[in-house]
Amino acid sequence: MNVIGKVTVLPQLPGSIARLSELAYNLYWSWTPHAQALYETLDPSLWERFQRNPVRTLLEVPQARLQAVAADPAYLARYAQVMKDFDAYMGKADTWASRKAPGLKPVAYFSMEYGFHESLPIYSGGLGVLAGDHCKSASDLGLPFTAVGMLFHQGYFRQLFDKDGWQNEAYDELDLTTLPITPARTAGGEEARVQVRIGDREVQVRVWNLNVGRIRVLLLDTNVPENSEDDRKLTARLYGGNQELRVQQYVLLGVAGIRALRALNIPGEVYHMNEGHAALLGLERMREYVAQGLEFRTAVETVAASTLFTTHTPVPAGNDAFGYDLMDRYLGKWPGLLNTTRDELYALARHEQLWDGHLVPTFSMTVFALNMSRAANGVSELHGEVSRDMWKFLYEGAEPEEVPIGHVTNGAHNLTFTSQAMRDLLSTVLPADWTERLEDEAMWAAVEGLSDEQLRDVQRDMKREMIAFVRARVREQKLRNGASAADVAATGTLLDENTVTIGFARRFATYKRATLLFRDRERLSRIVNHPERPVQFVFAGKAHPADNPGKAFIQEIYRMSQEPEFRGKIVILENYDMNVARHLVQGVDIWLNNPRRPLEASGTSGMKASFNGSPNFSVLDGWWREGYDGTNGWPIGEEREYADLNVQDDADAYSLYQTLETEIAPRYYGTPTGENSWADTVRRAIQTVSPRFSMQRQVIDYVQGYYLPIGERGAELAENSSARAREIAGWKGWVRQQWNYTTLTAQAQLPATTQPGQTVPVSAQVNPAGINLNELRVEAVLNRGGHLTRFPLKSQGDGRFSADVPLNESGLYSVGVRMLPVIEGLSNDLEAGLMKWA
Ligand SMILES: *Cc1c(COP(=O)(O)O)cnc(C)c1O
Repeated sequence: MNVIGKVTVLPQLPGSIARLSELAYNLYWSWTPHAQALYETLDPSLWERFQRNPVRTLLEVPQARLQAVAADPAYLARYAQVMKDFDAYMGKADTWASRKAPGLKPVAYFSMEYGFHESLPIYSGGLGVLAGDHCKSASDLGLPFTAVGMLFHQGYFRQLFDKDGWQNEAYDELDLTTLPITPARTAGGEEARVQVRIGDREVQVRVWNLNVGRIRVLLLDTNVPENSEDDRKLTARLYGGNQELRVQQYVLLGVAGIRALRALNIPGEVYHMNEGHAALLGLERMREYVAQGLEFRTAVETVAASTLFTTHTPVPAGNDAFGYDLMDRYLGKWPGLLNTTRDELYALARHEQLWDGHLVPTFSMTVFALNMSRAANGVSELHGEVSRDMWKFLYEGAEPEEVPIGHVTNGAHNLTFTSQAMRDLLSTVLPADWTERLEDEAMWAAVEGLSDEQLRDVQRDMKREMIAFVRARVREQKLRNGASAADVAATGTLLDENTVTIGFARRFATYKRATLLFRDRERLSRIVNHPERPVQFVFAGKAHPADNPGKAFIQEIYRMSQEPEFRGKIVILENYDMNVARHLVQGVDIWLNNPRRPLEASGTSGMKASFNGSPNFSVLDGWWREGYDGTNGWPIGEEREYADLNVQDDADAYSLYQTLETEIAPRYYGTPTGENSWADTVRRAIQTVSPRFSMQRQVIDYVQGYYLPIGERGAELAENSSARAREIAGWKGWVRQQWNYTTLTAQAQLPATTQPGQTVPVSAQVNPAGINLNELRVEAVLNRGGHLTRFPLKSQGDGRFSADVPLNESGLYSVGVRMLPVIEGLSNDLEAGLMKWA
């Protein structure tokens, strides 16, 4: 038909269930299965057909059905309970933040993608789900918190396999009236609109409001009639398009995002940039300060002091960097707006990279993010280390361990991914308020009280549900691809509920090595077809549309799954999303992850599986390097670096097979109860992983380690029209100017050998040029086996510094002397970016 317009007819909710609509517009339901069940009951097939979307289900369900449930006492009782819980949640005054962080300043969190629920497909994978989970826990903890993101009206993409297992992408235009969003309104009641210059166009941006429990998310949308066709597509697809579009989207997220907060009068004093995509928010915040009369450098200090940057990408190529000519098209006016020069602005993002055999300067989003924040972190302990090493070139003279990038290990939102059945079971041993103190490790010890039988029963039910889901999904796919009747019928026997089942699902980036399992096909076949202890596998995952090697991995697994020896025992599901994720992490017995160490910054899906009692089996990378304790799952490979990737793949595959054959399968099929039973591992997985890798623990770490101190320091620097920021900026400018004129020479009288506890005299002679002597730290640096200790030298006048430096332990020491400019109140010693070694 030829559509000339669209209209939405809103449902008339009977009075007794009137608040179903209000609840549908708060993603509280996304982690509350009982709330979802209220909509599912209205019409289970509509519910499934429309991605379990409450707003859509309410729109589609016939009025007669609404009248019927509105008069059904059982339904009304469930409704009343859900609403009571919802009101208690929303109205709770006594939150973690009110008790533990009452002085916390309002946080504005920026992320390109958010994974809240499958019906709102504005995420591609782990980064988005992490951001969505972060918002959910910020709500749970009662933080003053607002998130900013983009409303991609064609989402990421829907993945379809063709007959040969090749990934095709489908883009569905979302109908916004079916999403749980409403236009954000200004104090005056108007729909919020902001403008942003993208290249030579003024682009109009509509702002949507999304309620996630107690907090809100603002979603930016350029798909409005006032914009040109091209500009309307700026918010069409996540990670679609070329570099040009990327830059445009980054300008939009950063600049329009800040303007949206301002238009709605939403306070923000701590700014958290989730990945470098959000870095351009610094531009707009600086522009605001410059417009108030601050100098550029003072604006930099003021903005950076209140900003945190979280990096997620451990490979240089994964960090966006653009040519200056491209940036000029979008940032051309910004030096003028910031009262600075292009050179000075771009210096904050400069990263020299090899392009076509030449070293050329690029505008790196990560470098800009690091320079526009005074706190940065990676997402696991190992990733922190990898990041410090990767970005140490920005901190000339510094040792890698001194690079000011810390870490907060990721977590996952327990309730979003834990099945209702498991929640009910946990409620029998955990205290009544357990969902509010998920991070409490001691509390989780009570999981020991769950019997082997209780766990087995719940896990069997979850597994049956997962198998039914897998069969239905594959059946749908076979029907679509015109498979034979026999092939379609065979989907009814996929997977066996008595066979130990291993899940592998994530983005198909090649470093995640989805095909590692197939490295020795004969050995795999013996494992899968073992007469007493068979093993089966379920795979799922999307490759980025431009990633042909990733798509080839999918196809390889698909083809393997069609081989006679693996049929029905290795399955790959299409369209991995949060729905598939929930089914798999709840239903499989074990979760597998075998990335090429150390490239998995954290990984989170294994946490979700452990919450449901499916232990993790993984390379000791990212979170699992911290989470594995010898009892709660299994490691793959060794904690070491490899020069040859082939050798690494062989070693890890060998380890994977070996552990499967000699530990996992025997335990699963072994003694059903008692010491060393399967249930032992399950209990250990639940009780160790649930608290330590809860999103609640993660957000608390961010509050205590970053949001609180950044809020304080940001306010200090901004006070009195940024008086302190101006001093710091002026001081940095001065020391930078003087630095080339300073000199440092040093001597140490080192005997060939000495005893532990002895001291050695170290002295230095400094010419400070125009820098105050008391603003120079002159220190001896001792390196003993890679471990650094620093020992300050005392000023003796006339630029002479000296100290007797103790050598406390036996061993080989290297001794060096360096100086760096420091004043009180810097965020860290390397902030001035200057260091000189003798
Ligand atoms: C948790 C999750 C991810 C992240 O998985 P990793 O194992 O961390 O790569 C990706 N996609 C979806 C849908 C998820 O739920």
